[in-house]
Parts: sequence; structure tokens; C-alpha cells
Amino acid sequence: MQYAGAVSRLIVELAKLPGIGTKTAQRLAFFLLNAPPDVAGSLAEAIREAREKVRRCSVCGDFTDVDPCPVCSSETRDNRVICVVQDPRDVAAIEKYRGYKGVYHVLHGVLSPLAGVGPQELNIKSLLARLAGGAVQEVILATNPDVEGDATALYLARLIKPLGIKVTRIAHGLPVGAHLEYADEVTLGRAIEGRREME
Ligand SMILES: [Zn+2]
Repeated sequence: MQYAGAVSRLIVELAKLPGIGTKTAQRLAFFLLNAPPDVAGSLAEAIREAREKVRRCSVCGDFTDVDPCPVCSSETRDNRVICVVQDPRDVAAIEKYRGYKGVYHVLHGVLSPLAGVGPQELNIKSLLARLAGGAVQEVILATNPDVEGDATALYLARLIKPLGIKVTRIAHGLPVGAHLEYADEVTLGRAIEGRREME
């Protein structure tokens, strides 16, 4: 099917988004073209604003529009406990379960040799810098319970344990292969409460 240049460009751009195939991109494009102009306008503005204002927190790496982020700058959070997650969405998921009072560190991915993701590609250096301060007593490794998440947790445990810091792994109350971001609060709560010290 051939579309006018601008329509076809819109479809191409939408199809670059994760989980959006060409069919869905076409449907979204025609929705935007048929909707009142301000629908497309405020979407475009929201994308532009987010890209301009949102950056990575210089402490934990989470996405934020104030640096350090609200969790890192909060006086009521326990800075002695750091929960390491692979994705900013996991921070949001754990925050919904209100029982966790520690802070976070976002890796922005997991080790994946096949995809060319090694330790250098992850936000690990700044984690080690935080731990060097000496105040941290426990690191909870909350990467997803799948092959890559487990391998990443093992890698981090080997780096962190020699520093004399307690390293725990979230319990497998989560089904194997499950993603944290889809877990409900009760399951997440159990996974965190039931964490075990890594060997
Ligand atoms: Zn932060």
C-alpha cells in the first residue's frame, strides 16, 4: 500500500516503537490523522517535553526530571539498603508495593552476551562507587528471575560480596521467567520479604 510522504513517514516512525508492527503503526497513524488536531499536538509535545526534561538520576540511574531523583533525595528512605533492578519500570512496580523503604539502583539492562551487552554497557560502575562509601549494608538483587537476570545477579554478587556487604536475591515467589513489572504488589512484596542471602 502506498501513502503520501508525510503519512508514510509517520507510519515508519511509529513502527520503530517496541511491540508496534506495521499494521498497528498504520492504525495509530490513521487514528492521529482522524482525531482532533490537539490530540496529535499534545502527544508530540509530551514526547518532546519528556525527552528534554527527563534524564538519568546521577545517583541511582532512574529516569527523573529532578536530579537527584525524589527517592535518592528523600530523608525518609533507608540509604543502607539498595535494591538493584534492571529497568526503571521495576522501580515503579516496587514502589507500588509500599513496604520497601530502601533506595534503588537501575542497571538499564542485564548482561546478555548474545546481544552484545557486557558489564560496560550497564550502570554498574556508579553502583560500585555508591558501595565504596561504606554506608551500604545490604544490596538486594532484583533482576528478573530468568537466565539473563540470574546471570547478572550472580555477576554482581561476585563483585559485591568481597566488599563485606550482605547480598540478597529476591525470592522466587515470582514465576521463573516472570517480569517484575507485571507482578502484582502482593507477589512483589513476598519476593522482597522472602529474599535470601546469596552464597
Ligand atoms: Zn536516584
